[in-house]
Amino acid sequence: MSASKIVSLSLFPCIMPKEDPKWRFALGASPTTEGWIVCLATEDGAEGFGYASATAHMGAVNSALQGQIEYLKNSVVGQDCNSLELILRNLDRAMRGAPQAKAAIDCALYDLNARRLGVPLCDLFGGAVRDKTPILRILAIKTPDEMAEQALKLVERGYRYLKIKVHGEVAEDVARVAAIRKRVGDDVHLTIDANQAYSVKDAIVALGRMSEFNIDLAEQPVHIDDMDGLALVTRMSPITIEADESAGSLRDIYELASRRIVDAVSLKIPKLGGLRNTLAAARVCEAAGIRYRLGAAVGSRVLSAAAIHLACSLPGVEYACELGEFERLLDDPFEGIEIENGFLKLPTSVGTGVRLRAEVAASRPR
Ligand SMILES: [Mg+2]
Repeated sequence: MSASKIVSLSLFPCIMPKEDPKWRFALGASPTTEGWIVCLATEDGAEGFGYASATAHMGAVNSALQGQIEYLKNSVVGQDCNSLELILRNLDRAMRGAPQAKAAIDCALYDLNARRLGVPLCDLFGGAVRDKTPILRILAIKTPDEMAEQALKLVERGYRYLKIKVHGEVAEDVARVAAIRKRVGDDVHLTIDANQAYSVKDAIVALGRMSEFNIDLAEQPVHIDDMDGLALVTRMSPITIEADESAGSLRDIYELASRRIVDAVSLKIPKLGGLRNTLAAARVCEAAGIRYRLGAAVGSRVLSAAAIHLACSLPGVEYACELGEFERLLDDPFEGIEIENGFLKLPTSVGTGVRLRAEVAASRPR
């Protein structure tokens, strides 16, 4: 592909109200999902888009993200768009951390290069091994009855994988699981996410009791920094234990895999700093015999679209991915993907396969 210089990095805010303003998990609640859309443009007129995700529990708030992206602009503008590795190395040299800001730039770079080549994004990862993935939807913390009602609504729309958010009170949490299993029947796959809410001993007790309701997987039962506690829960629980917050970097995932602290890892593009690092993390898991999948992409369709290309290119993704949360968010600036009967299809058009809605494209800053 002929070289073309990157001539601009522009960004605009992406504030998406939640359909359910009372949506809550163990670490907090807010009525909106916030982030930034990053656009890279080359001198020949091509563009690529990425999403910077404001997730305070992973260290990123929206105002700081804007400053980080502006700060990193000098490492990107003026470079040849083909020099992906060079640009990503320069981002790491310019600033330590800031994975969500770097992820937006990384995704925009990959999208830009795929569009200039005229190929779908997955071709840059070696091509697709599947053309769709089952999607898991997340149930916010509410009363057992309310959660069971919401679970049934999702099942009636075709979903076969659900995640139950729990908050650390063992008896109440077991009641949530029991109510949901009773309402949806035996054919629906259920997982748990405690978002660090349990002590080690409570996690072992809770998961022991929940296991009678046939739970496939339990995510991040204990504190982000308690690697030994996480390892103990993994040894003691009959349920597959997955790290999410504790898998906050490529280095974390190396430690989790090499010490076999967990059975599985939730890979997320924003927390890992982009598609390149997520791909590398998947290879580390494969080498160690640890399961992995693409975890919750909460935000614009442009983020889920990037993730579905990776999910469909990685042979080791054997479980439902969490790429449908855009369905419960309003005012998405992007369109072009939808969940059908519980599955997300791999887009076949160029780049990520999503596009700005016409009214957003007409009014956005350049
Ligand atoms: Mg999680």
